Amino acid sequence: MKKVLVLGGGIAGVEAASLLSEYGFDVTLVSNRDYYYIYPLAIWIPVERIKFNDIKMNLNNLALIHNFRFIKDEVLSIKAKEKEVLLKESGSLKDFDYLVIAIGGSKVNPKGMEYAYSICSEPTQALELRDAIQKLVLKGSGKIAIGFGGNPKDPSGVRGGPAFELLLNLDDYLRKLNLRENFEITFFAPMDKPGIRLGEKAYNSAIDMLKKLNIKIKTGKKIKEFQKDGVVLEDGEKIEADVIAFIPATDGHKAIKESDLPQNEAGFIKIDDTTKVIDFDYVYAIGDSAALEGPDWKAKQGHLAEAMARVCAFNIALKEGKAKGAPKSYKEHMSIICLMDMGTKGAGLVYRNDKKAIFLPMPIIGHYLKKLWGMHFKLVKMKKLPKLPYINY
Ligand SMILES: Cc1cc2nc3c(=O)[nH]c(=O)nc-3n(C[C@H](O)[C@H](O)[C@H](O)COP(=O)(O)OP(=O)(O)OC[C@H]3O[C@@H](n4cnc5c(N)ncnc54)[C@H](O)[C@@H]3O)c2cc1C
Repeated sequence: MKKVLVLGGGIAGVEAASLLSEYGFDVTLVSNRDYYYIYPLAIWIPVERIKFNDIKMNLNNLALIHNFRFIKDEVLSIKAKEKEVLLKESGSLKDFDYLVIAIGGSKVNPKGMEYAYSICSEPTQALELRDAIQKLVLKGSGKIAIGFGGNPKDPSGVRGGPAFELLLNLDDYLRKLNLRENFEITFFAPMDKPGIRLGEKAYNSAIDMLKKLNIKIKTGKKIKEFQKDGVVLEDGEKIEADVIAFIPATDGHKAIKESDLPQNEAGFIKIDDTTKVIDFDYVYAIGDSAALEGPDWKAKQGHLAEAMARVCAFNIALKEGKAKGAPKSYKEHMSIICLMDMGTKGAGLVYRNDKKAIFLPMPIIGHYLKKLWGMHFKLVKMKKLPKLPYINY
């Protein structure tokens, strides 16, 4: 039986490991955390709308359910030419036929990042942000700045949606506590039109909503640094803040940057349409680790990470005579799909592909749809519910 080594136990890695096992491969997955974390639901932790334990899933259990071997360890380096992966605890791994890389990315952190909280780096930081907001709530007033950053080397790693979701959920949360008027909330981002990638309609709706809710907007200026009491912008202007929440853009993973794999300027792995790494027949890269090719608005998203995993598993199976048909391309799945949550106010459905950009407001029901999606996603991962057609898991 051919052996596949999957690196990374996130959205892309677990989907790939599960499908490759279904195709009849002997699969081992290595990840540095012993849990699978559903990042799209992390927006609700700081405002106590969901519990941390409700958005993490034990990887040992998932390995049992999906029939792959799980090793908790950290990938230190990948030597593709020598067909070797070096792990922190277990040392060198060489006994595999295919390698699937899905370890996500590193972050473009501005100076002073230790003064800001992020909900997209170490998962436990969402809990620290929750506690910091709680402290202000107990005090009864405060200033909170929430923003996101760019990556000039590869804008596909920019993540604005969760910042908008966090802002709108925070506003909703403080209103429920009758404390909103005691808080100053500021949105900041270096771009002139942050979020325009989602389409003109979605961008305008998001900005209009922030204005309507009396959220201050500071955009179009680079972030110089974070300080204990605020965000300093390139021209010296300071956004005063007791708490800063920041979503840094994704950058190439440190272990990948130090590897001999072909990379783009940002350190994402260069792949062809089938997700196979350029110049290496046995290596595939999927999800946030891979360099995406396509339209200007392309974005690293969870739904694309899963689609890439499916494409990758199919193409490996095809090579080994375990699947029939023509090679598949991840580019067919290039789109932006996001149910942008606003708390109990609802959500806005954003959809963009090469033909259209849609923004559909979903007052009230949108929020509960996103909750339902979260529950369904987990049950599908546990194989307690079947996948629905046309929806990525
Ligand atoms: C707050 C937030 C909200 C989001 N909302 C949405 C949304 O609504 N819709 C959407 O489609 N996308 C959303 N995304 C994007 C989506 O979550 C990512 O695109 C997706 O998680 C990428 O999956 P991945 O498996 O490639 O990477 P990751 O999910 O980052 O997984 C990488 C895995 O590799 C492991 N790992 C990392 N380094 C090592 C190492 N050295 N050794 C071993 N293991 C390692 C990590 O522990 C992790 O398990 C959101 C992201 C964030 C942060």
